[in-house]
Amino acid sequence: MLTLEAATVRFGQRAALDTVDLEVADQEIVCVLGPSGCGKSTLLRAVAGLQPLSGGRVLLGGADQTGVPVHRRGVGLMFQDHQLFPQRDVAGNVTFGLRMHGVPRAEQQRRLAELLDLVGLPGAGQRAVASLSGGEQQRVALARALAPRPRLLMLDEPLGQLDRTLRERLVVELRSLFGQLGTTVLAVTHDQGEAFALADRVVIMRDGVIAQSGTPREVWQRPASSFVARFLGFDNIVSGEVNGQAADTPWGRIPVPDGSPQGPCALLVRPAGVRLAGPGDGLDCEVVSRTFRGTHAAVRLRPASGPALEAECRLTDAPEPGTRVGAGFTADDVVLLPAPGPDAP
Ligand code: ADP
Ligand code: MG
Repeated sequence: MLTLEAATVRFGQRAALDTVDLEVADQEIVCVLGPSGCGKSTLLRAVAGLQPLSGGRVLLGGADQTGVPVHRRGVGLMFQDHQLFPQRDVAGNVTFGLRMHGVPRAEQQRRLAELLDLVGLPGAGQRAVASLSGGEQQRVALARALAPRPRLLMLDEPLGQLDRTLRERLVVELRSLFGQLGTTVLAVTHDQGEAFALADRVVIMRDGVIAQSGTPREVWQRPASSFVARFLGFDNIVSGEVNGQAADTPWGRIPVPDGSPQGPCALLVRPAGVRLAGPGDGLDCEVVSRTFRGTHAAVRLRPASGPALEAECRLTDAPEPGTRVGAGFTADDVVLLPAPGPDAP
């Protein structure tokens, strides 16, 4: 459906998109995730034709889009801030694209009713945009983007303005809606929860470059680099060297998964893989804090050597701050990352 080949956008010396290769299959939901300023909006604007490329190509359905204007690309773009027309009512907003395409009035009305049902706002056509809540405006913006039946729907931080509860509900609704409609979606967000809940495939971006692409589960289980791991909120990362079945690290010898390559590496230990025992049993640590997280407690440790360490404990087992404990590691929760290079964080 969509192919980017070495797509590059430069602003002055700086590349906001740097030779990006990306494919989105028909009916796939792909979510690009990355920190603010990494080039997400630039990527969408380039696909929509709002931002000319400095190099490379965008293809839609196999056809090179170079020189094809925005309105001929058949893509829908929903911006971060909705950008509804404040002086028009809901119907005027939703049917905007249909009027632009010269769709007859009766057909416009039929599609309007259908779309308002779809986004859970039946009969809201006559309401003023200003009278809608943030979540309702978001749904209207979505209905407007879907109205011309774009072959590719692009969403820029679609739920960014909404509070967390509403966001978590809408993201589930959106996913099932796109599934029903068979819509191909390219969304971008800085919010990992949103990306992981929405996407069939997550693409993590850093400084205009794709750092990793995979299913939410693959990316979560096997982050490809220290950058990705830290961006996902994993902080238990240390450098070391694999010798045999374990790595020598500032936290001591840590078992590594079977078949791990020998030699220098960085190492991520998921908090669930840090087991706490009595003092003298494993790496000597002092408990700095414990935070209740609903289903478990996150225990922050200061080890005798090496950087701070976080352990995930059952609520009933979490030791008090100030306690001395021993920490051990389970190989299943250890992920080997490439050795830190000159530009690793
Ligand atoms: P994101 O959406 O991931 O936050 P953007 O795509 O908006 O990032 O921006 C990527 C980089 O390109 C940023 O450093 C931003 O300042 C820069 N940038 C974006 N648009 C322009 C522009 N029109 N002119 C100059 N620099 C820009
Ligand atoms: Mg942006």
